[in-house]
Amino acid sequence: MTHFAFPPPAPSTVPVEGGDVVFPVRRILCVGRNYAAHRREMGGDERDPPFFFAKPADAVVALLGPGNVPYPSATHDLHHEIELVVALKSGGAGIAVEAAMDHVFGYAVGVDLTRRDLQAAAKAKGQPWDAAKGFDASAPISAIRPVDKASVDGAIRLSVNGQERQVGQIADMIWTIPEIIAEASKLWTLAAGDLIFTGTPEGVAAIGRGDRVEGAVEGVGQLDFTIV
Ligand code: MN
Repeated sequence: MTHFAFPPPAPSTVPVEGGDVVFPVRRILCVGRNYAAHRREMGGDERDPPFFFAKPADAVVALLGPGNVPYPSATHDLHHEIELVVALKSGGAGIAVEAAMDHVFGYAVGVDLTRRDLQAAAKAKGQPWDAAKGFDASAPISAIRPVDKASVDGAIRLSVNGQERQVGQIADMIWTIPEIIAEASKLWTLAAGDLIFTGTPEGVAAIGRGDRVEGAVEGVGQLDFTIV
């Protein structure tokens, strides 16, 4: 009989609003350049479709109230990207757009923290983005609001030290929520526990130690953390 070489790590979890239930995180997928104005600010071509990258499941920092997020190593240009997060209760491969919403458990507010300097270096050399995007504590996230209690047709915004940096509308996403799920399921077999960060509107910029970051998605929730 086989057994674990060492105790397996506990799964990363995100609290679900309104009770003592937590959502076990299986995987984090992220959409790049899903808002036209952000695609422009990143130098993207208008014809380029959005695309995916990933973060490890243990990158989540679940925030129920004000919290702290550590400034990561190896960067001098940490950027905020406020994003709507879709949490899946089921999945599959080759999901049709029309069936995609059946797999949604709920929504949360997330920040796709980015080592922008490492991302620029990776782009210049044609290297992968893992060190730029998938570092420890790179995915602060609010509690998940169950789908039947959420609405996702409002504003998305982020402020730093009380000054608004990013504001947009979920309706401005290039790929809609069902399209994101359908597109992702062409590339991976999705499953319960998957989180999908759906992209950020324009206004991404640097943050440093001591900065207080407040983000919100109307109808979904908010998060509040200080970089330490
Ligand atoms: Mn992003």
